[in-house]
Amino acid sequence: MLIAVPKEIKTQEFRVGMPPAGVRELNLRGHQVLVEQSAGQAIGFSDQDYADAGAEIVADVDSLFARAEMIVKVKEPQPQEYQRLREGQILFTYLHLAADAPQTQGLIDSGCTAIAYETVTDAQGGLPLLAPMSEVAGKLSVQAGARCLEKIMGGRGVLLGGVPGVAPAQVTVIGGGVVGENAARMAMGLGASVTIVDRSIPRLRELEARYQGRLSTVYSTHDAILSCIKQSDLVIGAVLIPGAAAPKLVSREMLKQMMPGSVLVDVAIDQGGCFETSRATTHEQPTFVEEGVIHYCVANMPGAVARTSTLALTHATLPFIVALADKGWQLALKDDKHLMNGLNIHAGQVTNSAVAKTLGYAY
Ligand code: NAD
Repeated sequence: MLIAVPKEIKTQEFRVGMPPAGVRELNLRGHQVLVEQSAGQAIGFSDQDYADAGAEIVADVDSLFARAEMIVKVKEPQPQEYQRLREGQILFTYLHLAADAPQTQGLIDSGCTAIAYETVTDAQGGLPLLAPMSEVAGKLSVQAGARCLEKIMGGRGVLLGGVPGVAPAQVTVIGGGVVGENAARMAMGLGASVTIVDRSIPRLRELEARYQGRLSTVYSTHDAILSCIKQSDLVIGAVLIPGAAAPKLVSREMLKQMMPGSVLVDVAIDQGGCFETSRATTHEQPTFVEEGVIHYCVANMPGAVARTSTLALTHATLPFIVALADKGWQLALKDDKHLMNGLNIHAGQVTNSAVAKTLGYAY
């Protein structure tokens, strides 16, 4: 199959849909990969690296789109990109269509077969192409929070791990899923004292067993959250209710009872945030202060570590890309119901029930 990897054009997006190692894997299986010039330059994958892996470097993006049978990307196509897509072409990338009517119509009009990373499932009921970004965001949340706790950033001037004779910082993680567990591991690794709050007893049981006394688990109620955040230097928001906005678990009134200079990192900000006082920020201006508490609410945290994020994402996408290239989309989807769940648009029809329902298309 002829596969194309365009350079991402969304603002501040430095990830790329395939690293040179992915090109090599596909090449070894007899497929041909076109990579747009400088697609991976910003994160240390040069055109020469891609060429050495067997890619053809293409400077003209129109011809790259025109020639390809499958386009592999990271972010949803921008208007000038979906206008280049054509009937019968496969698009494999993040789409998030329910929140994007113009893009949905653009993909319908193109006649392409659009498979969304975020709706591909796995046998455990998880979302294997979202999980790597949650892992990155979870680990990064502690790194960001630790920095915000420094005096020069306006924080309390507390070191997460403490030193001999000085107690470590208290970290509360609200939501013990993929983000929360990765945040907790990172915070424990730095020596902090960690509490995870979740409303799922089976999940708390699992975390308790896995980390055997190295963290505290707390059942999520208003009172429990208030008692934890009052004593915490760093609070990480990592809740998710699938398909819904994040619940506001910390109100402004509760925030007033936190220690001045303590830090909130709201990873759930991409679903509206789980603190009443949160609003989305950017990597350029990541923080603001409310009631003396520093808020870090960057909506696309993995972008800060675009090289790691690219590698993490593409390790997860590669097996699906290989299946699509080896078998063609029809057989690949027929053989794998989890990949089939990724199909959002085909031949001018919306094929994902949630997207169709939200945007009012027939399904
Ligand atoms: P997940 O489904 O793995 O975990 C969510 C957890 O929240 C579950 O364990 C659930 O039981 C718990 N939860 C739900 N309601 C709760 C409540 N009232 N109190 C306590 N816990 C509750 O989800 P995830 O992959 O860890 O993602 C968490 C959030 O992070 C999502 O909103 C996701 O979109 C977001 N995210 C943001 C970024 C970013 O860059 N900002 C990156 C990746 C993920």
